[in-house]
Amino acid sequence: MAVLVTGGAGYIGSHTVAELIERNEEVIVLDNLEKGHKEALLGGKLIQGDLRDKDFVKEVFLKNDIEAVIHFAAYIEVGESVANPLKYYNNNVVSTLNLLTAMKDAGVHKIVFSSTAATYGEPENTPILETDKTFPTNPYGETKLTVEKALKWSDGAYGLKHVILRYFNASGAHEGGKIGEDHDPESHLIPIILQVALGKRDEIKMFGDDYNTPDGTCVRDYIHVSDLAQAHVLALDKLRRENESSIYNLGNGKGFSVKEVVDVVRQITGKPIKAVVAPRRPGDPATLVASSEKVKKEMNWRPKYGGLAKIVETAWNWHKNHPNGYNDLV
Ligand code: UDP
Repeated sequence: MAVLVTGGAGYIGSHTVAELIERNEEVIVLDNLEKGHKEALLGGKLIQGDLRDKDFVKEVFLKNDIEAVIHFAAYIEVGESVANPLKYYNNNVVSTLNLLTAMKDAGVHKIVFSSTAATYGEPENTPILETDKTFPTNPYGETKLTVEKALKWSDGAYGLKHVILRYFNASGAHEGGKIGEDHDPESHLIPIILQVALGKRDEIKMFGDDYNTPDGTCVRDYIHVSDLAQAHVLALDKLRRENESSIYNLGNGKGFSVKEVVDVVRQITGKPIKAVVAPRRPGDPATLVASSEKVKKEMNWRPKYGGLAKIVETAWNWHKNHPNGYNDLV
């Protein structure tokens, strides 16, 4: 039986596919390739299609022997979600309801869901615990939280067992050097700074330096994408073993400000990177740092890339060798 990975051609999805393939799992990737790249797939069978198409999703479950789902497919940009919330509700919520309905109809009862630190909004504590209040400050986080709630109620009603993984800031690239981060347009901090290092941009705009943080810029918890990938496979194992629903943060537990990230990239690349202060980006909380004690304890998750330098090193290796992302491989 196969594991269906929606959004498997995307950034975190493709690194998780790599991890699944390494463990000899049978993998089917469902991706509309709007944002994903087929070159990012190191294995598995690709079915191209859109989760917004109910009949198509139903057919995927009829035609394939699917044991469990890992669900990544979604839009992910905070700023865009504030500007165009309905686009996010449609692709992140409506699509997932189609997926859950098809799973229910086909009798598939295991799902690992790609959620986010953005579900917390402005946190009440640092580091953030899974039991802390969730009050998203942007539609992206709100759509992910809406899905989390649909999962909770679907467990009660249909026995749909889930592991929800709330990622903090996914970053870095596969050590093998063949896959990495490639968004178009790129909105994430580390790849944008690396584009400045590559001479593809003149400067990095630091969104706000008047936050209530030590240097005024936003603080985030950067976690390597392969460590996230490892957690998805452990979550799958847990569902198989225990058949119980649960929810986990995934982060390193250490915060870095935007200014600190720029400095680390300067050190790793040896390039002088021009950074300028720009207005705040709407929807950004000041500080997001995870407590990941629960996932370490309950799933024996052991992140391998604790330090930001190692994360940036792997990202730099990818970007240096693929300055145009997957276009360099087409
Ligand atoms: N950021 C920035 N300039 C950029 C992109 C991002 O200052 O060009 C900041 C952003 O405001 C946030 C942090 O970097 O505080 C991380 O943003 P990113 O979009 O990478 O991830 P997010 O926190 O939204 O998941």
